[in-house]
Amino acid sequence: MKTSEELLQWYRQNHRQLPWRMDRNPYKIWISEVMLQQTTVSAVIPYFERFLEAFPTVEALAKADEERVLGLWSGLGYYSRARNLHRAAKQIAELGLFPQTYEELLKLPGLGPYTAAAVASIAFGEEVAAVDGNVIRVVTRLYDIAEDCTFKETRQLIQSKAQDLVSGQPPHEHNQAMMELGATICVPQNPFCLLCPVARFCQARSNGTAAQRPVKKKMKKQEPWVWEMLVIRRNGAVALVKEDNGTPWLKKTWVLPGRASPWTKSGNPESDFRHSITHHKIFVKLKFGPPSLLRDRQVKWVKTAQIKEVGTSSIVRKALEEASRRK
Ligand code: SF4
Repeated sequence: MKTSEELLQWYRQNHRQLPWRMDRNPYKIWISEVMLQQTTVSAVIPYFERFLEAFPTVEALAKADEERVLGLWSGLGYYSRARNLHRAAKQIAELGLFPQTYEELLKLPGLGPYTAAAVASIAFGEEVAAVDGNVIRVVTRLYDIAEDCTFKETRQLIQSKAQDLVSGQPPHEHNQAMMELGATICVPQNPFCLLCPVARFCQARSNGTAAQRPVKKKMKKQEPWVWEMLVIRRNGAVALVKEDNGTPWLKKTWVLPGRASPWTKSGNPESDFRHSITHHKIFVKLKFGPPSLLRDRQVKWVKTAQIKEVGTSSIVRKALEEASRRK
């Protein structure tokens, strides 16, 4: 399949101007790719700009205090990614040089095959396919791949087809063109096939199966959990805990004291609000108590106005908003 000329021409004329596309700086590309794994481009832009303003270089990130890094990540979720980013920055600063190949990038904490391929191809021009969810969709449609793409063998097939497509092309442009096509034209529902630069190569389009690609097994049902959060205030600040914080999802993250446990009864439990974290539906119950309940626990006292500067989850911020309405 030779999609290249049409695809590249379309990308050059139509791609979105994004802050991490202004140059081919590996640090910016890396940060943007990690942020984009969690949310949409429009939601990432302000986070990316704030993060780059605070840590303009990998050395600046390496030297930063972890709390500050998590604070600037606050609201993006998946804090382990921010911690890995910080650890990887320290390793790069120690190396004294940004690793330039896919294989070397893969050795850094938190860099999986997709991120390593994106940085290696976009920043350093390595001919390696970067396959994210958008690219999976484009490839399974172009080749009309009917196997379940959550299977390892299917993922390998998609990877090898994507690799065929990048071969002989300018990798930085080709990979971004594939991602851009998936994000803007070959979208999950109702793809814009009439505007698609590679429509004449698309097997799913000619077979009328685009709407069924990619094939994915059903998502796991969300497990219900109850999280009792304790709101303890002192001098206008609220207590947050990090060690042994009572949750399986937000380990080593500042949260309200309390405990989360699975809900095994039928029906939904009573709660103040609900929140979803990956495969868990969480029913949050708020309780209020005096500082004596904390006994000897290590806590951080945070004023409401400063909560955004602490690396905490959006579920905690929701809880504090709810608590301020009630008491
Ligand atoms: S023709 Fe349609 S389904 Fe095929 S790649 Fe283009 S947008 Fe996607």
